Amino acid sequence: MNLVRDYTGIDGYTAGVSRPLLLVSNDDGFNSPGIQALVAALEPLGEVWVVAPDRENSAVSHALTLSRPLRLVEAGPRRYLVDGTPTDCIALALGHVLKGRRVDLVVSGINHGANMGDDVHYSGTVSAAFEAAVQGLPAIAVSLVAGNGWEFGHAARIARWLARRVLRLGMPEGTLLNVNVPPGTPRGAALTRLGKHRYTEGVIEGTDPRGKRCYWIGGGDPVWERIAGTDFVAIADGLVSITPLQRDMTDLARLEQLRSESGWELEGLP
Ligand code: MN
Repeated sequence: MNLVRDYTGIDGYTAGVSRPLLLVSNDDGFNSPGIQALVAALEPLGEVWVVAPDRENSAVSHALTLSRPLRLVEAGPRRYLVDGTPTDCIALALGHVLKGRRVDLVVSGINHGANMGDDVHYSGTVSAAFEAAVQGLPAIAVSLVAGNGWEFGHAARIARWLARRVLRLGMPEGTLLNVNVPPGTPRGAALTRLGKHRYTEGVIEGTDPRGKRCYWIGGGDPVWERIAGTDFVAIADGLVSITPLQRDMTDLARLEQLRSESGWELEGLP
C-alpha cells in the first residue's frame, strides 16, 4: 500500500509544528449548511481552506469550465468562492490558491442528500473528491441521506473521524472514500460497494406558463435493489456507508478476459 502521509499523534500537534492542510469543497454552494458543518468539524485537525462554488451545482458531475473565464472571490481568510463547478474549485485551489503548498486531504460535502450507487456519476460532491484523486491526493466525499429536516451533527463528526484516520493512516493513491450518513443517529458503519437503483419515472412532461412543452428529468421515487454489502443496504440498516472508489475505472478483470478471448484479436482492424 502506498501510504500518502503519516501523522502519528495528530491529536497532539503543538503550535509551530507543521499542521496538516485540508481543502474543503462541495456542490451545494459556499453558503450551504452542510459545508459549514463540515468546516467547523475539521478545523481542529489542521489548517482548513475552503474553495467552493458560489451557488448550487448539484448533479453537474465532473464538469470542467473551459469556455469562459472563472471568477475567484475571497470571502475571508482561507475562504474562496468560485463561479464554477466543484471540479473547477479543486482545479483553482490546487493550481492557484494553494499553489506550492502541500495539500494533505480533500474533503467534499456535506452534501444535502445521498450519493449512492450509480448516482456517484452525476454527483458534483463526489466529483470534487474524484478530481482530488486524479491530482494524486487522498479525498473523502460525505453525503447526508435525507430525513426529517437536515441535522448535520452526526455526519460532521463522522467526517472528522474519517479525516483524522486518513491523515494518520494515508490511503492508497487513486482511492477516494464515498461516505453516506443515514438520517438520525447511525447504529454503526460498514464498508460497502456501490448498489443499484432506478428511477420509476425518468422524464416528466409538463407545460410551462407560456404554454410550451417542458420536461423534468429524475422524477418519481427511486427503487433500489437489496443487494448484500451495498451502500443502499447499509443506509437502510441505519449504518454509515463507506465505499472506496478508484480513479482508474479500467475493468482489469474484463481486460484480461477480452485479451484472451478469440474474436478480440485486433490485428485484423480494417
Ligand atoms: Mn448537492
